[in-house]
Amino acid sequence: MRETVAPGGAELRARAEIDLAAVRANVRALRERAPGAALMAVVKADGYGHGAAACARAAVEAGATWLGTATPQEALALRAPGAGVPDHVRIMCWLWTPGGPWREAVEAGLDVSLSGTWALDEVTRAARLAGRPARVQLKADTGLGRGGCQPADWAELVAGALRAEAEGLLRVTGLWSHFACADEPGHPSITAQLTRFREMVAYAERQGADPEVRHIANSPATLTLPESHFDLVRPGIAMYGVSPSPEIGTPADFGLRPVMTLSASLALVKRVPGGHGVSYGHHYVTPGPTTLGLVPLGYADGIPRHASSSGPVLVEGKWRTVAGRVAMDQFVLDLGGDDPGPGAEAVLFGPGDRGEPTAEDWAQAAGTIAYEIVTRIGTRVPRVHVNEGPDPVGGPGRGSGT
Ligand SMILES: *Cc1c(COP(=O)(O)O)cnc(C)c1O
Repeated sequence: MRETVAPGGAELRARAEIDLAAVRANVRALRERAPGAALMAVVKADGYGHGAAACARAAVEAGATWLGTATPQEALALRAPGAGVPDHVRIMCWLWTPGGPWREAVEAGLDVSLSGTWALDEVTRAARLAGRPARVQLKADTGLGRGGCQPADWAELVAGALRAEAEGLLRVTGLWSHFACADEPGHPSITAQLTRFREMVAYAERQGADPEVRHIANSPATLTLPESHFDLVRPGIAMYGVSPSPEIGTPADFGLRPVMTLSASLALVKRVPGGHGVSYGHHYVTPGPTTLGLVPLGYADGIPRHASSSGPVLVEGKWRTVAGRVAMDQFVLDLGGDDPGPGAEAVLFGPGDRGEPTAEDWAQAAGTIAYEIVTRIGTRVPRVHVNEGPDPVGGPGRGSGT
């Protein structure tokens, strides 16, 4: 993701402002929730749409000692010098496919996740070629039913990894797993997964594994389940100030602040008569003479088409609702006769302090989760990073944009 501030930023068609002071404050708040554990800042999918490198640096400034990504390419990009991530920060990635860049990962000192023996074979071959041991973390499927090694196959994976460790080809740095329902406190699968995790870890350790870190906690578990913290927690969405689910609370309930503010400049404001169809399919018809405002963002920018006739937008202090269909590049608001003029600011979502909607409000309007709202904001929307660190002594600053 480009980290640019266009000259004359106010003239941008649209922008996603990313408050890096909020990232730092959120990471500190999460560390306070898990005081005995290291923190891995999850910055996959371009930092959930916020810009991976800038958010990684901010998280590290606030005490994260690990970074987590899905793909090896994302992890390698963070290891590149231009990303500005200090060398001592460990970087782990977990979504591998056969033929992946194992050798580059070994040479870059990444921690790589293994869920099966095919991956063990590929990583040991890469370690031989690289002439240095791989750092591997064995992933247990404790019940999610997605990635990870099934309990029935665990003995074989553990034995293979420990043999390769004895040969000096790798080091088993971690044992880990992932929850299915941590965002539904009290769900019976949570304790079942914790029990299975403890058993699978104990088995591997009895066989001789000596991992640096054992971990299973994502954001909801970091926030609500201290017994899941083990040696390390892996929050993603919470570090961006978004609640994992309305069911467990609002960001403010956990001392978190939303990081992204998505806004646009109205491209047009015009008067129309009553009975005028609006946007494709004419699913909205003006109830009387009114003004329409054209917002230059559409589904190509990640505005969900499912938010047609429901997404909320703040214009001049009032909430307006998407009128009719969201199109590829634009959508329309019924401004109810107000005429703020072209160029007026339309705020789709933000922290909420100025009365604007939040990403959670958009998720509700579109029938999805706030993760999807922030993550899908498209590459055509510039990310404008503000409040780059470090924080001045005495608290987060409101320094100049970078
Ligand atoms: C995405 C992801 C996380 C972070 O999840 P959040 O719910 O965003 O905190 C942690 N671990 C793994 C394996 C993930 O894929």
